Amino acid sequence: MSPYESPSAIIADFRISDPSEIDIEAIAQSRGATIIYEPIEGCAARILGNGDQAIITVDDGPNVGRRRFSAAHEFGHWMRDRAKIRFACTDQAMLASWVNVDAERGANEYAADLLLPKTLFQPAARNKPLTLDSAQDLAILFRTSVTATAIRLLRYGSFPGILIFLESGKRKWFIRGEDVPDVLWAHEFPPKATYAADLIGNRTLDNAAGAVQADGWIDHPQSRWYEVHEHSCRISKNGILTLLWWKNEKQLLDLTREEK
Ligand SMILES: [Zn+2]
Repeated sequence: MSPYESPSAIIADFRISDPSEIDIEAIAQSRGATIIYEPIEGCAARILGNGDQAIITVDDGPNVGRRRFSAAHEFGHWMRDRAKIRFACTDQAMLASWVNVDAERGANEYAADLLLPKTLFQPAARNKPLTLDSAQDLAILFRTSVTATAIRLLRYGSFPGILIFLESGKRKWFIRGEDVPDVLWAHEFPPKATYAADLIGNRTLDNAAGAVQADGWIDHPQSRWYEVHEHSCRISKNGILTLLWWKNEKQLLDLTREEK
């Protein structure tokens, strides 16, 4: 079995200095895992390990970013989860696993660190508006999934916000950016006056953005006095990704002041 190596050790070993140089197939091959793309049913990707060799099969879907992310996710299992070297991972499981502590989240984080290394991502994300358009642009540059890229943008970008994933209209998870106080929670169901609610109500609409009153999204008594910028996108049949951006940071500043 290949010994564990961190994503940053692999990035250094391959002397990667540009996103275009992150060749996931070559990286995996060098650590004993062969990546194959072909149509598979029932999951997005799977890995079968045997001794120090593994075969990673990734569904040959149309979206190159998702394919690469799925491949890197399986490679993450190969590096991290020695005791279990047989995984079949659905898109749904990968999407759902950004907040739980389990093998799936570990493989997601590994894939994000490998395909979107902080050292390359942070300069590329600097001063980019906190919107899903920016996430989309960066996802193209790094050739990876929009969800993984949006999480990185929230974590390593320049502005404060919250990322929410809705499945069938209900909040599945949300992640706060670093400067967003813990007292702010995203509603479990997006109320009417939000762009996500428009997307849920209108199946032909895939993408909507604009200013909304913060209490539309944020469960906090004073929220109605503030505004956030919302960008919502349909990312799968029942999945909607919403990125909230405090363009005007007054709410966050007022809350930070109250805490003191
Ligand atoms: Zn997995």
